[in-house]
Amino acid sequence: MKRKAEDKKKILFPFLSLLFIISLSLFIYSCTKKETMYKESRVLMDTFCTITVVSPSKEMAKDVIDAGFAEIKKLELLLNYFSVDSEITEINNAAGINLIKVSDETLEIMNKTREISQATNGAFDPTIAPVVKQWKFSKDKSTSSVPSKTIVEQALRLVDFRKITIDTDASEVFLQEKGMEIDLGGIAKGYAADKAVETIKAKGIKAALVAIAGDIRGFGLNPSGQGWKVGIQNPRPSSESEKPWEDIFAVLHLKDKAISTSGDYQRFFIKKGKRYHHILDPDTGYPADSGLISVSVIAPEGYLADSLSTAVFVLGAEKGMKLLESMEFDGVFVDADNNILLTKNLRKAIKLLSNKYRLPN
Ligand code: AMP
Ligand code: MG
Repeated sequence: MKRKAEDKKKILFPFLSLLFIISLSLFIYSCTKKETMYKESRVLMDTFCTITVVSPSKEMAKDVIDAGFAEIKKLELLLNYFSVDSEITEINNAAGINLIKVSDETLEIMNKTREISQATNGAFDPTIAPVVKQWKFSKDKSTSSVPSKTIVEQALRLVDFRKITIDTDASEVFLQEKGMEIDLGGIAKGYAADKAVETIKAKGIKAALVAIAGDIRGFGLNPSGQGWKVGIQNPRPSSESEKPWEDIFAVLHLKDKAISTSGDYQRFFIKKGKRYHHILDPDTGYPADSGLISVSVIAPEGYLADSLSTAVFVLGAEKGMKLLESMEFDGVFVDADNNILLTKNLRKAIKLLSNKYRLPN
């Protein structure tokens, strides 16, 4: 499939406006042990990435931050659905034809993706791509339209994660039917944050925070000796807000954990008063309508938080809560009536900054 540079631009700008979780501790900050916090931001994976490290020297900080970004860039080149020469595009172009030899990283994320698709009973399904393509979520919302039911149904026939063959020994991946496509947009940023953290740790750094838009992985403690303070974006910021991603409704501390948020406000359009957003229910091919408007998941690794926030958004509050508690992960959900739902562990750990949303009694 041919994708033009123009398409890429259309993708880039909406993502840039999606920096919906910000670290509240992202300033260079000296502490008593002569360790200093350094941070740098770059645009990668079609979005805004920030790496913050606690380092004994500026030189070391520069070296590890460069290495972290290089890791993210490498994964972007391998996994980008919109690039003509990524491994994902190679796999998609060979659907129903032949197996494709892939890198260790692509093989690893494909295996992790399968694990999540199975654990969520298909609520997370990377083969949703042919349906996503029919929903043209672009920055120019006036050109967006709802695809016909027939088109959605046709595309939906190609969706089934069980039809992905992964030959781990041979490092090969195959989509069993012509027309099938995979899109790792719901897991790749969390995975890239994991890999960047691995790279930074291997260089001897004791604490860092990697944020790829709203997919954030922290390790170690910040210079004030606490977990990294992160905020969750208000899913319904005021329409006048110039920087909605800075409108935070709750904060919590991340200690050796990752957080990701999926919401119906990140990429959407409104037609005839109805909101259509980018998280699709693989059972229907339509935007998930589970009653939730924002789901944040806190898990030990970024790929888990990223994929599970997408899956829980599809599953809804009840099933989502059960799933997270069975895995011993945490979650902060906001429903359409402005109620906040929390896993047990978070009840004391979260601080609300807005009275727009109500905590359970
Ligand atoms: P996120 O923002 O992490 O929730 O991921 C949303 C992105 O993942 C979308 O832009 C699609 O590319 C893709 N996606 C949408 N629905 C699903 C789904 N049910 N399972 C897996 N990926 C999805
Ligand atoms: Mg996700």
